[in-house]
Amino acid sequence: MQMLSRASSAMATFPPSRVRSGFCMWPNARQLCFRKGILYGFMRLFSTPLKTLRVASRSIRVGRFCSVASMSSSLQIELIPCLRDNYAYLLHDVNTGTVGVVDPSEAVPIIDALSRKNINLTYILNTHHHYDHTGGNEELKARYGAKVIGSGIDKERIPGIDIYLNDGDKWMFAGHEVHVMDTPGHTRGHISFYFPGSKAIFTGDTLFSLSCGKLFEGTPEQMQSSLTKIMSLPDETSIYCGHEYTLSNSKFALSIEPGNKELQSYAAHVASLRSKGMPTIPTTLKTEKATNPFLRTSSAEIRRVLKIADTADDAEALGVIRQAKDNF
Ligand SMILES: [Zn+2]
Repeated sequence: MQMLSRASSAMATFPPSRVRSGFCMWPNARQLCFRKGILYGFMRLFSTPLKTLRVASRSIRVGRFCSVASMSSSLQIELIPCLRDNYAYLLHDVNTGTVGVVDPSEAVPIIDALSRKNINLTYILNTHHHYDHTGGNEELKARYGAKVIGSGIDKERIPGIDIYLNDGDKWMFAGHEVHVMDTPGHTRGHISFYFPGSKAIFTGDTLFSLSCGKLFEGTPEQMQSSLTKIMSLPDETSIYCGHEYTLSNSKFALSIEPGNKELQSYAAHVASLRSKGMPTIPTTLKTEKATNPFLRTSSAEIRRVLKIADTADDAEALGVIRQAKDNF
């Protein structure tokens, strides 16, 4: 059920950042995606009235820090580097021209990406209130008239919020169903946006590749419960998180589970990508289940290295792993 509400109270104002980060230009790749989207749109128009999103997806990685993920559907997802190590994501439904951005930490890289594609912004989706996820809200909203969407729990802390959503809500983005999942632990009002048709989830600072967010406003129990929810999604789900932390996360993960072969090979892959300036995101749930220590609280090796008792439950183990990571 779609639940839309309007925030009424005045929001804190956050000055828009003017920091310009390194983005890349590869217009041919983008045009390729765009044409593919149009072609697919026509095929769909004459083939079936039902939206059937095929699983097959393809990722074109371009230049330093930049990737364009082109799904075999009308929804394109583009990664936009912001600030030092943040990622925002542009969502573009090529059939309707509807455009969203997830977690714009600053406005300029988003404006540049929209200008290159000559498109306007319809929605701003925030996973949580932190400035490095919402810093671009006000400027983008003023410029494009975009609606800001975030958690009802954090409606007082998300700048410019128009529509607030709660756990279990289903919201429609240009015909694509979006499931809203409460995923607290990092902050109390953190939500994740799951697009089942595209097999994609935007996890903000709850689940990173090879780690989870710091527990600023939550407990290990809350983070454990949030991660368990995400783990219940299909293994092939693509995970789009808020930061490029994977390389440093891999060093911690290897220090507490050195015998994990899949982790060894993923860490080598990550190091290779980063040495070429390429993003490690999106990752997949399957990869994370096999390698991410915060999804592997029952690993005998992790428990032995960190001296976690056999009797400790998953949340207790997560608390110990988180503390070890904070001190790493
Ligand atoms: Zn955060």
